[in-house]
Amino acid sequence: MPCESPKTLLHRLGLRPKKALGQHFLLHPHQARRIVAALHLTGEDTVVEIGAGLGALTSWLALAARRVIALERDPELARFLKEELLVEPPGVEVICQDVLKFDFPGAARDAGRPLSVVGNLPYQITSPLLFTLIRESAAISQAVLMMQQEVGTRLLASPGPKDYGILSVLGQYYFRVTRLFALSPGNFYPPPQVDSVVLRLVPETPAPAALDQALLHRLVKTAFGHRRKTLNNTLVSGAAAFGLTPEAMRVLLAQLGIDLRRRGETLSVAEFVEISNQVARLRGVM
Ligand code: SAM
Repeated sequence: MPCESPKTLLHRLGLRPKKALGQHFLLHPHQARRIVAALHLTGEDTVVEIGAGLGALTSWLALAARRVIALERDPELARFLKEELLVEPPGVEVICQDVLKFDFPGAARDAGRPLSVVGNLPYQITSPLLFTLIRESAAISQAVLMMQQEVGTRLLASPGPKDYGILSVLGQYYFRVTRLFALSPGNFYPPPQVDSVVLRLVPETPAPAALDQALLHRLVKTAFGHRRKTLNNTLVSGAAAFGLTPEAMRVLLAQLGIDLRRRGETLSVAEFVEISNQVARLRGVM
């Protein structure tokens, strides 16, 4: 655990926080411990840490897991982690890499089990990272992630006009998402301009499950492509993209009791799955 404050440490290293990399370092060890404790690690687990920074979480993780893969995109911080901070803890591997290019399935194969994932996320990549975790959910056993409040709200949102969108539907389809706690900007150096929230994501086998996941993704994207448009103007007009005629899509939605005047933002996750499965079945018999 670094005993100097992030500000002192960066100053000693001749570095400044890089805004473009979303560098806001945790100030208080007890917050780091809280995040690591929320992971429920066993001594058998391999953890992937996203954006290890100055190592605020890394050493705590090393105490709790078998192996820590600490990803850090900034070469100067990765060098610091390798040379100075992490000479002691065994089982920590620092990799200077963009997490969006990390091979989660390969690492899970090497570990012989799904991975735990943790990170105080660089906010500019939160959405693409969440979509990466959705895509790779089979390689993950749990994730505890700090993100900007606004994205956390979207991930947790129920159907409605404000925060509910593609991220909410797909995030909730693949994961049980729980809000753990919030952190104000004063917990970081330098303070970000937004509040942060820590969420826990645990992959779940959804019920009902989608027969064709790629189809579900396309359907959700189409329904939210134009938020103000009704299903008649998104799914029915765009039925050809799903291999159906507009009439067949209209009948399918009517059979499911879904009013064409509704908008995509009113459909629950289960309704999206039902529509997608009916489309898949219909295509199977056509
Ligand atoms: N974990 C540290 C902490 O809590 O104090 C640092 C968190 S800071 C919000 C985010 C870190 O992610 C920075 O160290 C930044 O350099 C790193 N980072 C930014 N983009 C990244 C990417 N695409 N892949 C891996 N690390 C990245």
